[in-house]
Amino acid sequence: MATPAVTALADQIGAAVTDAVRLHTQIGHHQGITPHQLSTPHPWLTRQVHTLVDTLRTGNGRLCPHIGPAPLVLYGAAWAPGHLVCPRCIAALRPDDTEDSTCDRCRRPATPIYAGMAQSGLLLLAYGLCRRCARRTGLGPTNLTHTRSTDSSTPNYR
Ligand SMILES: [Zn+2]
Ligand SMILES: [Zn+2]
Repeated sequence: MATPAVTALADQIGAAVTDAVRLHTQIGHHQGITPHQLSTPHPWLTRQVHTLVDTLRTGNGRLCPHIGPAPLVLYGAAWAPGHLVCPRCIAALRPDDTEDSTCDRCRRPATPIYAGMAQSGLLLLAYGLCRRCARRTGLGPTNLTHTRSTDSSTPNYR
């Protein structure tokens, strides 16, 4: 069973999810962070957050010791469902070498992996996608899609 604090946390994240996963932030390796506004909630990202909330609700989640009833920014990863950490404990989410080269959507090994991060309320969710999945979901670097970006702050993903 989940503790009351974890249940409250799951509720908060759940509420944020119904608010939609709109703000999508793409992170290039060593290239800083660029927020990217999606016009509609992204189905794959929303599903990842639902999985996380479900895991917390059923008491199978894992939280770093600093997460209490007054939540701060929380970090999660698509490759570690139910595992949430505070900003100080991000290293605990670091994927091992195998996971680091596995696509979070199709679960196939791939190089390169396109790393991204989505925000939903207080939750920041990291993920890594292969080229095919990045293109299919539209979550990859902008040069994978055919949409033109006029945002000059978009980093170059080459
Ligand atoms: Zn922590
Ligand atoms: Zn894939």
